[in-house]
Amino acid sequence: MADRLDETAGSLLLATAAAFVAAQPDGPARLLAVHHPLPNGLCAGCLATPTRWPCGTATIAATARTSAPLPRAPIRHGVAQTERRRR
Ligand SMILES: [Zn+2]
Repeated sequence: MADRLDETAGSLLLATAAAFVAAQPDGPARLLAVHHPLPNGLCAGCLATPTRWPCGTATIAATARTSAPLPRAPIRHGVAQTERRRR
């Protein structure tokens, strides 16, 4: 169950980060211009810590390129008022 929660949280984090990047002018393209694969399979943008491509940033940018922004969660006003009416 913890693995499933981790997977769900990871998917939500990726979708949220991708939506943020997608909202930036040329966001995905700018990130992918830096975080692209080198001939040795590492990411060109992640030099401080050599990272196999696609790195997390490239994954977010690639997701942002193809995903629509996340829908806003409905605002639930008046839950307490609804509960009071039922009584
Ligand atoms: Zn990178």
